[in-house]
Amino acid sequence: MLLGELSGEWSLEDNHLITASAIEKFQSVVGVDNFLLDEESLFRYSLDAYRVWSSQGRFSTNNKVSAVVKPLDTQEIVKIVKIANQEKIPLIPFGSGTGVMGAINPVPGSVCVDLKRMKSILDIDPVSLTVTAQSGVILAQLDESLSKRDLMLGHDPYSLPIATVGGAISTSGVGYRAAKYGSMGDQVLGLQVVLPNGEILETRSVEKTSVGPGFQYLFIGTEGVFGFITQATLKVFRIPESRVFKTYSFDNFENGFNAMNEMFSIGLKPSLSDLTEECSDINNSNQTKGQYSTNLFLVFEGYCEEVKAQLSRVPDICSQYGGTDAGPSMSKNYWDKRHDSAYRFKDNYIKKSVDDWPIANRNRVVAYPHVALPASKVLEYRRLAEQIVLEFQVEITEYSCWTNPGLFSLMLVKTVVDWNKDVADLDIAVDKLLTLAQDLGGTMEYVHGVGSKLSHLVSRELGYGLEIMRKIKSSIDPENIINPNNLGM
Ligand SMILES: Cc1cc2nc3c(=O)[nH]c(=O)nc-3n(C[C@H](O)[C@H](O)[C@H](O)COP(=O)(O)OP(=O)(O)OC[C@H]3O[C@@H](n4cnc5c(N)ncnc54)[C@H](O)[C@@H]3O)c2cc1C
Repeated sequence: MLLGELSGEWSLEDNHLITASAIEKFQSVVGVDNFLLDEESLFRYSLDAYRVWSSQGRFSTNNKVSAVVKPLDTQEIVKIVKIANQEKIPLIPFGSGTGVMGAINPVPGSVCVDLKRMKSILDIDPVSLTVTAQSGVILAQLDESLSKRDLMLGHDPYSLPIATVGGAISTSGVGYRAAKYGSMGDQVLGLQVVLPNGEILETRSVEKTSVGPGFQYLFIGTEGVFGFITQATLKVFRIPESRVFKTYSFDNFENGFNAMNEMFSIGLKPSLSDLTEECSDINNSNQTKGQYSTNLFLVFEGYCEEVKAQLSRVPDICSQYGGTDAGPSMSKNYWDKRHDSAYRFKDNYIKKSVDDWPIANRNRVVAYPHVALPASKVLEYRRLAEQIVLEFQVEITEYSCWTNPGLFSLMLVKTVVDWNKDVADLDIAVDKLLTLAQDLGGTMEYVHGVGSKLSHLVSRELGYGLEIMRKIKSSIDPENIINPNNLGM
């Protein structure tokens, strides 16, 4: 059973890590009903989606949190943080736990702070095109409220129906429409944050400032280590007048890549652009290579004349690189199904008791690195990546440039003969691919964050930048209370 598999011989009686006095203090802030100590909750709140999906991979511990606390507002978080400092209890900010990097992986004795009771939408400003919401609001609920005012969120990840505003900012997630509307981080104008020392920091919600650094950036993509985002003001967008789906098929990835890059070079801005080469037989068990096909999925959105003008340039660019118009249906189908994996995740894990979760598939191990590179290096990277995986008997079943020609992903699959060895081999192959991206001037991850999964490679990527992050962290979090051991710190 998965619970046993991941948790070892742990039981609630072993949880001596939280004292009666700390329990009493936390309960006096949030009430008994919003303070959880039952075994199922402690297990559930110690896993993000990566550990839920499979027990594979590099995690130093299978620790569990000692308790879960569910605050309602900023003031309750201030009180929780003060108690944690007094009692020296690590706190883990938790949105929906859909992260895929082990970024909520607790150290022993941690208390999980579930932010989903903070679900108020505080203001929608259709003139400034902004929304202000508490951090626990689910993205889909925010988008739905905006749609009643003819507005939309812009950030549209697969996980829209399940992820929270705070989690999406803390990972600076990327969604389907990011090519036009930007990543979640790009949409942040202002934040309210409870710092690890209990102070509240508010940044101004404006398009630009030249008064010192934009402090909001300290909390974008930094996985909660610098504090709790309690409230965010985000840029939003008018619902587009027009939306057109297009798919172009190419003989090979290189031609599709050159067409995509040319579109971006002349300034075309599709809201969705995804160049994917995939093996048509991903699930085949005998590991023979299936047929590969390359398609460029495009969606153009905006005011009517803009969409028309953009579309007028696409056919020539694609045909210059041998692309053929495959009609709208493939892109439309892709668009319509974009949230299906999140609904499956909700049905299989969020709604079910832990004992009823599906058993992880142990016949194969998968990894899905997402690296960012200078566009000029993408094809070289792909060639070198193919050589690296050969050494480890790993198959690449999909290559894609999602959103921008410089954002490159590979789906890696390894058939399992010996679980421990094959998992370790895949980890080594992935590390080689990530460090290759760094060596070519790129970054090892552009969408999901670092978490505990990639922490060991942060220093290699940030150099002295990691030292600066540590100094900032120790100046506002001397006790190392918030999400310790994350993001390479
Ligand atoms: C089916 C599925 C599809 C996915 N598709 C995408 C996709 O298309 N694009 C994409 O970018 N990601 C995707 N993801 C990954 C995941 O949904 C994102 O990383 C998401 O942004 C995490 O949100 P969350 O609320 O679940 O955060 P959590 O997983 O709970 O937390 C993520 C990190 O943020 C921190 N955190 C959470 N809330 C706060 C807060 N208020 N203040 C400070 N720190 C906080 C946590 O401590 C942790 O470090 C997918 C995941 C799944 C399971």
